[in-house]
Amino acid sequence: MKDQWITIKAVSLINNCPECYSTDGLELTLKQEFIDTKFSKSITQNISTQMHCTTCNTEIYPERWTEDIERIYDYQMKAFEPKQSSKKMKPLFWVLLGSAAITIAILVAFITTYKLA
Ligand SMILES: [Zn+2]
Repeated sequence: MKDQWITIKAVSLINNCPECYSTDGLELTLKQEFIDTKFSKSITQNISTQMHCTTCNTEIYPERWTEDIERIYDYQMKAFEPKQSSKKMKPLFWVLLGSAAITIAILVAFITTYKLA
């Protein structure tokens, strides 16, 4: 089982970067967690965010955020609509389920024949 974070939305902010003071480098990325197994792929409601400046190529951690950044972050989080939780079965699951059904059918047929004999 592996966890995967998939970028749902990336927003360019016009706020000053706390590191290089550029006004066109900040980018807020919103990610949602997927759980990928052999049998299924499900979307969780776990959200992770990342602030990054593309001008100075720095990760901007919350402790470096200015009030303006916090305000825009809150706004973006309110506007953000995560994907609905869902679970999708993969082909392998159906193959195994099919095999199980066939095995049961054979067993039932066998038992029935045996009882009649
Ligand atoms: Zn910067």
